Amino acid sequence: AGRSFLVGLIGAGVGPSLTPPMHEREAAQAGRRLLYRTIDITDLGLPPESVGDLVQAARHLGFDGLNITHPCKQLVLPALDGLSPEAAAIGAVNTVVFDGGAAVGHNTDWSGFAGSLRRGLPDAARDRVVLLGAGGAGAAVAHALMTCGVRELVIADLSVERAATLAERLQARFPEARCRPADTARPERLLADADGLVHATPVGMAHHPGVPVPPELLRPPLWVADVVYRPLRTELLHHAEQRGCATLDGGGMAVFQAGDAFELITGLTPDRDRMLTHFTQL
Ligand code: NAD
Repeated sequence: AGRSFLVGLIGAGVGPSLTPPMHEREAAQAGRRLLYRTIDITDLGLPPESVGDLVQAARHLGFDGLNITHPCKQLVLPALDGLSPEAAAIGAVNTVVFDGGAAVGHNTDWSGFAGSLRRGLPDAARDRVVLLGAGGAGAAVAHALMTCGVRELVIADLSVERAATLAERLQARFPEARCRPADTARPERLLADADGLVHATPVGMAHHPGVPVPPELLRPPLWVADVVYRPLRTELLHHAEQRGCATLDGGGMAVFQAGDAFELITGLTPDRDRMLTHFTQL
């Protein structure tokens, strides 16, 4: 039957996460035992900086791997022995694999979004894409967009400095394409010749309701992708659909990041379509 697996998720408020049942169910489907435990720093009364100690503890306790989430994705870096090239470029880790004695960091947020985009909007034009949000998710999504062949990426964020820093890093890593911060805060100018809009700010989450751009600016052939996945159908996607735009919800990214992490940690190949179906039932 093969050996069993022990996996954990470190972050704040991770109790309701859907990642544990996704991993456990997928392992069971493969006839293997996998136990996935949440390690909630809020419940434990620990500061985000304790992530390094928790990673060491998990290693000593025989965990096979970990997922790392908000607010620890960057704080975990000093605790690791190595990084995948993508995690190093993005500067954030959401998956740790204990390989022999070493803790190696990966980022499957970017590959998860790339997988979701390839599956959900395979024919979407990618000459010019606008990314809203240059935080943790934005950095991973930006890397995915450049890897998926976007020719020009324009990054907007309430923090002009954060957008500029991310654009500069990407430009250095993808010299054949263009990557720049938005030179205007006016959404109508920003979206004027865009093929696609990718939303990666918290706007639209259950406790953060709203639409990040005026709905009247959403019109075909613009496609619209949201990384927010609670709710799955955000106000932004609702308006975009109503106005006839092709859309992509954040569920695909959530499922594919889990699938990619599952594969890295267990070495088993997950059935990603099955995981997607399972996710919609959770
Ligand atoms: P973050 O705090 O790291 O970054 C958010 C960024 O958005 C910040 O830079 C902030 O300045 C900017 N911002 C906020 N409001 C804005 C506005 N109105 N206009 C422009 N910029 C604005 O947060 P994060 O970790 O990047 O998470 C963002 C969202 O992505 C959350 O809703 C999270 O749930 C979601 N997420 C989804 C997945 C997935 O798998 N689908 C993965 C990670 C994060």
